[in-house]
Amino acid sequence: MGEFVDEASVCVRGGDGGAGAVSFRREPYVPRGGPDGGDGGDGGDVWLVADRNTASLLAFKDHPHRIAASGGHGSGQRKHGRRGEDLLVPVPEGTVVRDRDGTVLADLLRHGDRWLAARGGRGGRGNAAFATNRRRAPRFAEQGERGEERWLRLELRLVADVGIVGFPNAGKSTLISRISAARPKIADYPFTTLVPNLGVVRWGDAEFVVADIPGLVQGAAEGRGLGHRFLRHVQRCRVLLYLLDLGPTAERPPAEQLQVLRDEVRRFDPRLAERPHLVAANKKDVAVHPFDGMSISAVTGDGVAELVARLAEMVAERRSAEAELEQHTPVVLRPEPEDDIRVSRAPDAAWLVEGRSALRAVALSDVTLPEAVEYIQHRLASLGVERALEKAGVREGDTVRIGDFEFEWRQERRREDDRRDGNRRSSRHESRGRR
Ligand code: GDP
Ligand code: MG
Repeated sequence: MGEFVDEASVCVRGGDGGAGAVSFRREPYVPRGGPDGGDGGDGGDVWLVADRNTASLLAFKDHPHRIAASGGHGSGQRKHGRRGEDLLVPVPEGTVVRDRDGTVLADLLRHGDRWLAARGGRGGRGNAAFATNRRRAPRFAEQGERGEERWLRLELRLVADVGIVGFPNAGKSTLISRISAARPKIADYPFTTLVPNLGVVRWGDAEFVVADIPGLVQGAAEGRGLGHRFLRHVQRCRVLLYLLDLGPTAERPPAEQLQVLRDEVRRFDPRLAERPHLVAANKKDVAVHPFDGMSISAVTGDGVAELVARLAEMVAERRSAEAELEQHTPVVLRPEPEDDIRVSRAPDAAWLVEGRSALRAVALSDVTLPEAVEYIQHRLASLGVERALEKAGVREGDTVRIGDFEFEWRQERRREDDRRDGNRRSSRHESRGRR
C-alpha cells in the first residue's frame, strides 16, 4: 500500500550528565585532606531502532517525548556516578527521520538499523580532577552537561501486513474499524483509518497493518473496474484474509465465494495465491448458510479476538521467516559530534559564544571563586574563544556571554599581561556570573 503515509513528531532528549562532587579527604589529624570529589556519570543516549514488530507511528501520538536516563552525581572518596541507561525507541521498518526543516537525517530501512537521535550529556568532573600543583584544593567541580534535545519528524510509508479480500458488502470495512487501534480517540487520530480502508491493529506488543481491498468483483483480474488498481496494492501483503459473507444478501454460498475470490487472486498474480492465507466467514449473527470453519461477526464482535490472534501469529511467522532469509547487517548511524566555537552578536549587543566545549568550560559549580575564574580563563584561551572574539571585533568593556555566564572584556589589561610576562592567568575576566 505504497502511497499511505503515516507521520508523527517526536521530541528526543538525552539524559543529563551527573554533577561532579566537591569533597575533601578526611584523615585523622589532617583538618582538610586532598580533593576527592568523584565525577558525575554520563547521561544515556536516545536511539531510534527499526523494529519489525512495530507497524505504525501510533505510539508517538500518545507519547511524543522520549527521554533517556540521567547520570548519577559523583560523591566523595572519588566515587563516580553511574551512567544513565540508553533509551531504545522502536520505530517501524522504513521510517524516514527528518529535521524540523525537512532535511532527511536517517532512513531506518530494516530491522535492527539504528540511529543516534539525542546524545546524553557528559558527566561533570569532580574537584579531584581539577587539582594541579598550583591549585591544590579546588573548591569547584564541573556541573553535568545537559542532554541534547530536539524535535524530529518521522515519516512512514505503510505496507499492509494483512490484505482482506472479499465481495462487496462482506463486511471488510466494518471489520477493520472494529479491530483498528485507538478507535475511542478516532478524532485525534485521523490516520487510524488513513484512507477508508486501512487500519493499524495492536495485539499485545505487536502491531500490524490491515488493508481492505475494496471493489473486488469478478473480472477485476482483467483490469475491469477499481479492482485492478487495488489488487496491485495487495501484492506486498504478508498474509491474505479471505472474508466470506454468510448473510442473507450474499449472492453465493460461502464455498463458492471462496473459489471465485481465489481464482481472481490467482489470475491477477499466481505468486499471490501462494501467500499464507486465512479464511473467515462474517455475519455469523445473521447467517443463512452453514459454514464449517472460522466464523465471526464484525458487528457483534463474536469470534473477532480469535481471528485477530491468528492473524497476528501469521504475520509474526512471516516476519521472522523474512528475517531469516535476509541476513541483514544492521546499519548503525552515529553522526560525528560537532564542537565548533561560534561567536555572534546578541540583540543587546553582547557577544554570544556558542559551542559545546565553551559551554562546558563555564559550567562549574561555583563561578565566583577566583580559582574557578582562573580555570575558565585558561580554558577559554586554549579553546580559541579569545582569538575568535578578537577576530570578530570585540572591544574593551564589551559584554561576553556563554550560556548563563557573563563577563566584561578587558582588552588593555590583556595586552599588558601579554607584554609583561605572557602570563595569561591574571584576572582580566571579571565574572558577573548569574548562577
Ligand atoms: P465491505 O463492502 O466489505 O466493506 O462491507 P461493509 O463493512 O461496508 O459492510 C456491508 C454491510 O454489512 C453493512 O451494512 C454492515 O453493517 C453489514 N455487516 C458487516 N458485518 C456484519 C456482521 O457481522 N453482521 C451483520 N448483521 N451485518 C454486518
Ligand atoms: Mg468497504
